[in-house]
Amino acid sequence: DSPKPVDYLSSLNERQRLAVEHGSGKVARPLLIIAGAGSGKTNTLAHRVVHLIVNGADPRRILLMTFSRRAAVEMTKRVERIASQVLGDRASVMTDGLTWAGTFHSVGARLLRDYALDIGLDPAFTIHDREDSADLMNLIRHELGLSKTESRFPAKQTCLSIYSRSVNAQAPLDEVLADDFPWCHNWVDELKKLFAAYVEAKQAQNVLDYDDLLLYWAELAKEAAFAEEIGSRFDHILVDEYQDTNRLQAAILLALKPDGSGVTVVGDDAQSIYAFRAADIRNILDFPKSFTPEAEVVTLDRNYRSTEPILAAANAVIAEAEERFTKDLWTERKSSAKPALVTVRDDTAQATYVCDAILAEREAGTRLKEQAVLFRTTHHSGSLEVELTRRNIPFVKFGGLKFLDSAHVKDVLATLRFAENPRDRVAGFRVLQLLPGVGPSFAGQVIDAMETALDPTMGLQALRAPQRVAEDWPGFVTLFDELRRKSSSWPSDLEHVRLWYEPHLERIHESAAARRGDLMQLEQIAAGYPSRERFLTDLTLDPPAASSDHAGPPHRDDDYLFLSTIHSAKGQEWKNVYVLNVVDGCIPACLGAGERKEIEEERRLLYVAMTRAKDSLHLMMPQRFYVENQVGRGDRHVYGLRSRFIPDHALQHFEQTTWPVAETKSGMGARSRASVDLRARMRGAWS
Ligand code: ATP
Ligand code: MG
Repeated sequence: DSPKPVDYLSSLNERQRLAVEHGSGKVARPLLIIAGAGSGKTNTLAHRVVHLIVNGADPRRILLMTFSRRAAVEMTKRVERIASQVLGDRASVMTDGLTWAGTFHSVGARLLRDYALDIGLDPAFTIHDREDSADLMNLIRHELGLSKTESRFPAKQTCLSIYSRSVNAQAPLDEVLADDFPWCHNWVDELKKLFAAYVEAKQAQNVLDYDDLLLYWAELAKEAAFAEEIGSRFDHILVDEYQDTNRLQAAILLALKPDGSGVTVVGDDAQSIYAFRAADIRNILDFPKSFTPEAEVVTLDRNYRSTEPILAAANAVIAEAEERFTKDLWTERKSSAKPALVTVRDDTAQATYVCDAILAEREAGTRLKEQAVLFRTTHHSGSLEVELTRRNIPFVKFGGLKFLDSAHVKDVLATLRFAENPRDRVAGFRVLQLLPGVGPSFAGQVIDAMETALDPTMGLQALRAPQRVAEDWPGFVTLFDELRRKSSSWPSDLEHVRLWYEPHLERIHESAAARRGDLMQLEQIAAGYPSRERFLTDLTLDPPAASSDHAGPPHRDDDYLFLSTIHSAKGQEWKNVYVLNVVDGCIPACLGAGERKEIEEERRLLYVAMTRAKDSLHLMMPQRFYVENQVGRGDRHVYGLRSRFIPDHALQHFEQTTWPVAETKSGMGARSRASVDLRARMRGAWS
């Protein structure tokens, strides 16, 4: 039956509507929506999905790619909400069919499992997160004798970054080294050897790292037959936040839909903040010309999110960028409240100020959930987290130390992974060494024995453990056997692992009770997954954010505050936003070492942060802050200068305040305040 009158389109402005209805009825030319923050790009994309479905598109044949799993879930919900205006109760049935919504990486993982046998992979492959990848890289460094301290060979993380950059940017090693890692350039031959061995090891162990999910997918898509087959599984491919995709992702898209039919991408070049992970702003800028006929381009310039003063301040910040972003946004949301630029004494005062402000807002009726605190790097929120905990303000932290990064959660997941894929040596080493008395050498023997045996469990059972391990050995063998036989049906697997792990947990880690709580929570998460494999894949790719090491994750419907790195806050919005440490050395983070392009990316980062705010925005400037882990210098205090991204002539857009207003007892505080003023003046003299 035909849809009701198109009232679901009536809330859109003319150009949003144009984008939504683009190509209606016919095979659509590719479409690019390029527009500034808060102009309704994501909203338009959601409406477009509804529109396609209402007009007969099969939701199972729509591929929707977002920047994070959370964004995908939110998008699906939004689609359902909009659809219910037209379809009523039938909306959910329809959006249930929208199963291909996720990140490039998760979609890649799913497709690769489908096609594994066709491309020489074992479908039981497990996935390494960045830490696992670095561990494997390290293992191989040792094997190749490249890790001797006197040789000053790059650290494992650096090796992985170089490798990853080269893969994602599809750039030769030479070029990557010259451009981004010049200090590693004389290691080019050794690095090549290392990476070759790394690739071999991954294959031997049947593991894929994050980059492989894109790389294998891109390679698969280069094979004409597969490209055709996969491409024709989808009538529509829609991508949000396209400015932060890399060369591989663009190549994949192009291979699946060479003529761009049914492709819609959406993004904002002024918000490109992932170049450090090889995202390439050229993708979005060159998109229209990648097709014949060229893609349709729709721009939007009305911002629906922020009040006029917030937008004016954000525009003033981005106007200083070297690159010209010509999309000047306007809004009808009048307000007299300028964003606040708050000078505080130090990190502690910053935490107090922010907590006070948040609580006052809550008193005035703004729920915690409508407020967010954003920061450049995850450790910037330390003092604030302490203060929030002290005052009993519940919060969830995103983008920082993920739930999954905590050692105990990794131990448990590695156990599952090892059972899923006994060739996964990183997982194997981790699990086996949980047993007292097992070191790398015996662990290596065990894994080898399992690999040469006909069946890994038999290999394990046949092994004679040394005396010192004897006590804990049988328990492990039984567990492994159980997990392999999958006799314990999912998700009770996880409970088995926990029960086996608990004594080790108490032996290895402090605060065992809190950690046990995390594991219980993991079981709850697992209950939502149909299979062990899906659970492991999803969690490895995009772990749930929770700061269980701090306040503990609040209950689902409780009111809680958002703490997030700016990177993870992308695409979202809150009524009130507080940005910490808007001082040189934090934003931008890379002083001195900072090349121009890196500085420019930091500027866009501040722009992203500011444009998250709807009604109220606070930029915090501690005069004194703590810098952790300065190479070779240890932790130290430094004095903060207002971020260079807020030049003097932009100050008119802010309400400047100093807090606390009264002179403090601490001479240090007073002195640092004077020095800041003087330095700012000196700098001003030259501008
Ligand atoms: P970002 O660049 O930050 O990702 P965006 O361009 O994707 O932003 P959205 O998140 O889609 O913007 O929309 C911003 C806000 O504006 C949302 O609250 C959305 O509901 C609202 N909005 C978008 N379009 C309209 C419209 N036509 N009428 C009213 N509100 C709108
Ligand atoms: Mg968006």
